[in-house]
Amino acid sequence: MPIYDFQCAQCGKRFEALVRVDHSAECPACKATDVKRLFSSLAAISTQKTRSVSHGQARAKGMAIKKEKDHAHAEYMRNHIRDHHS
Ligand SMILES: [Zn+2]
Repeated sequence: MPIYDFQCAQCGKRFEALVRVDHSAECPACKATDVKRLFSSLAAISTQKTRSVSHGQARAKGMAIKKEKDHAHAEYMRNHIRDHHS
């Protein structure tokens, strides 16, 4: 039986539950049956993986840019300090 993510419409709690034959689930916190099904865990994991990969690439790029900026800033500060002390 597949496990799905649910979110309780009553208290907002997210939980995983096995989908029963009647496709309903019960909130473990407040026992409400007014829950909505979210994406399956499997889909969530694969989405997260894809996102973290592209995020990692973006971050690597961002860090390279930041490094350049820091270097430029350090250079600027050095010049700035030298100007003021000479
Ligand atoms: Zn609830």
